[in-house]
Amino acid sequence: MTLDTLTPTYNTETFDRYVMQTYGRFPIALERGKGCRVWDTQGRAYLDFVAGIATCTLGHAHPAIIAAVTDQIQKLQHVSNLYYIPEQGALAQWLVEHSCADRVFFCNSGAEANEGAIKLARKYASTVLNISEPVIITAQSSFHGRTLATVTATGQPKYHKNFNPLVPGFHYVPYNDLEALETAIAQLDQDQPRVAAILIEPLQGEGGVNPGEIAYFQRIREICDEKKILLMLDEVQVGMGRSGKLWGHENLGIEPDAFTVAKGLGGGIPIGALLVKSSCNVFQSGDHASTFGGNPFVCRVGLTVAETLEKDGILENVLARGEQLRAGLGQLAERYPQYVAKVRGWGLINGLVLQPGGVTAIEVVKAAMDLGLLLVPAGTEVVRYVPPLIVSEAEIDEAIALTNKVFSQLA
Ligand SMILES: *Cc1c(COP(=O)(O)O)cnc(C)c1O
Repeated sequence: MTLDTLTPTYNTETFDRYVMQTYGRFPIALERGKGCRVWDTQGRAYLDFVAGIATCTLGHAHPAIIAAVTDQIQKLQHVSNLYYIPEQGALAQWLVEHSCADRVFFCNSGAEANEGAIKLARKYASTVLNISEPVIITAQSSFHGRTLATVTATGQPKYHKNFNPLVPGFHYVPYNDLEALETAIAQLDQDQPRVAAILIEPLQGEGGVNPGEIAYFQRIREICDEKKILLMLDEVQVGMGRSGKLWGHENLGIEPDAFTVAKGLGGGIPIGALLVKSSCNVFQSGDHASTFGGNPFVCRVGLTVAETLEKDGILENVLARGEQLRAGLGQLAERYPQYVAKVRGWGLINGLVLQPGGVTAIEVVKAAMDLGLLLVPAGTEVVRYVPPLIVSEAEIDEAIALTNKVFSQLA
């Protein structure tokens, strides 16, 4: 089989014969996209409210991305970090100038960014706190990635199953539960200090689109200051404008010591980053590395995403479109109370929370796909809406109308 034979109809059985079966896939193959619209190999159009799982910040085939990619690939793609990379420096400067962080490490994915954060916390524990066996506290229902350390950090037993022995040094607490956190720290630190860091999402994405509470995060910040514990935020899904602010933690009125980004940063090109404040910048030469990390190509595209977000005032669109979407989906909770409990989220990361025992998230996603709307589940009871950040007013209305149709067919 060659690329030419992929279309017009794509044989999914052939695919399954060669690719490892690690994903449950929907039976369509997407071939091209433009803005918030994608087309499958049969020529069918879909309104894309998945955006490659919250990654395609500027939608598909954005002119600025096409220009940057085309220009950079003709100049230089990859050289490794043996040398200075001007594009990496420029993207790091933009990130530092637009956040509370002082330094950036680049890698290729969200899991890898969190791996970097976990290593940072361990070195911080060892060199600053004098803790030899540190513990990192994470939340239940969290999602931090699929590498061994990040899947251990992920507080969902279903992702741990059959992968023992897991990485030691993690402890889970319920999300948004201050008392449970304080109790856990007191117990862990009972004989000697052990807690080195808290790694937590400002809004839990994969775990059900569950926003963090302001009072909870502000108290976490105080606890971390008092005990010199690192507050590390996983902004892989909400960072880079998706929440309506550039960083999710701006919705909580706190600054982390370190945070990670990935999904939205490259607008669909694989890139991840760990951002740190000077106070916990304990990595020295040789401590951490990535062959592909921050290469000229991905950083040029990341910089283009960043500059376009700023230049085109996209954050304002995220706020307005997010309110429009929540208002429209909120009406569905009134119209179909047997199926829809409520809608929650920030900016353009929103979850339609379903009633237990009614219809499941995957059923809603499949029904919406049949009507030409792409959505993604966040667990079994939440349907996630994460369109490109350039989504228009008319496209939001269309998504609301199609979702309404899903439930009117069920009722
Ligand atoms: C997607 C995600 C990750 C993992 O990112 P990958 O690029 O798939 O490794 C980590 N944390 C959060 C919050 C995510 O949403």
